[in-house]
Amino acid sequence: MIPPIARQFVAGESAATAMERARRLDDDGVGAILNLLGEHYGERAPADDDARTYCELLETVAATDLDACVSVKPSQLGLDVGESVFRENLERVVDAAADCGGFVWVDMEDHTTTDATLDAFETQVRRHPGMGVCLQANLRRTREDLARLADLPGKVRLVKGAYDEPSEVAYTDKADVNEAYREDLELAFRTFDGGVAVGSHDPAMISLARDLHAEYGTDYEVQMLMGVREDAQRDLAADDVDVYQYIPYGDRWLSYFYRRVAERKENALFALRAVLGR
Ligand SMILES: Cc1cc2nc3c(=O)[nH]c(=O)nc-3n(C[C@H](O)[C@H](O)[C@H](O)COP(=O)(O)OP(=O)(O)OC[C@H]3O[C@@H](n4cnc5c(N)ncnc54)[C@H](O)[C@@H]3O)c2cc1C
Repeated sequence: MIPPIARQFVAGESAATAMERARRLDDDGVGAILNLLGEHYGERAPADDDARTYCELLETVAATDLDACVSVKPSQLGLDVGESVFRENLERVVDAAADCGGFVWVDMEDHTTTDATLDAFETQVRRHPGMGVCLQANLRRTREDLARLADLPGKVRLVKGAYDEPSEVAYTDKADVNEAYREDLELAFRTFDGGVAVGSHDPAMISLARDLHAEYGTDYEVQMLMGVREDAQRDLAADDVDVYQYIPYGDRWLSYFYRRVAERKENALFALRAVLGR
């Protein structure tokens, strides 16, 4: 069961609850990115199960008129078990998407997974261009990764980065991350044909994206999380911006919830009060 404390960020346990939410968002012109919660599996069986669930979810979405897609995590598809397991499961999900005209996003986890994630993405996006991958502005390597991706089909989602990373590989000061985000976003708009997703709730970055779109004409969309600035999501959609909400569902909510709490002081206080019952 999803405890009340996590319900701000998680749609429910079943795919049906996530689809219901997607349907409601559709009324406001907001698209849906469906994410089955699950990560860091140490065995193959749950990774195979989740890959199968994503294939079914893509078929379910295709049978509707909803503007919805899926987003998968590498360690959910078996990266911790072995790179070949992840690659096989990603291929299964991408084959299902290709069969029904679906779109697959690949989330980015901590920096030790970046190479394996980009390699698998590159293989699959050459087979099915209806794909995108996430890059994190806090990582020092991201500028080079953007240059690599710019030569491929598909989209890129730029985020600030949700994982605690060491300073050898990442900017750890918030101002430095924001500066890197601005520079990376400019590079993406200047060099990408496939389209750029602004995975941020930060009004300054969304406003910069509007300016960059006006300057370079690159297609873009804004992506935000369920439970965060939902009024802004509706307002942007009403203003003719393509907006997608990332909708996590399933019972493996703890790690995801922890990241949402960790990235904002107010959430941590809210969680503490709920735990203490006050
Ligand atoms: C669609 C989407 C997909 C993502 N995928 C990945 C991924 O694959 N890998 C990865 O590392 N990270 C991912 N992230 C998370 C991202 O890296 C950031 O941790 C997160 O988005 C917060 O950064 P921000 O850009 O919103 O800016 P911030 O500067 O952190 O926040 C700007 C404002 O947004 C609001 N806000 C931000 N976070 C919260 C919150 N948790 N609760 C309430 N309000 C909040 C606040 O008003 C805050 O002032 C994703 C984010 C989105 C929106």
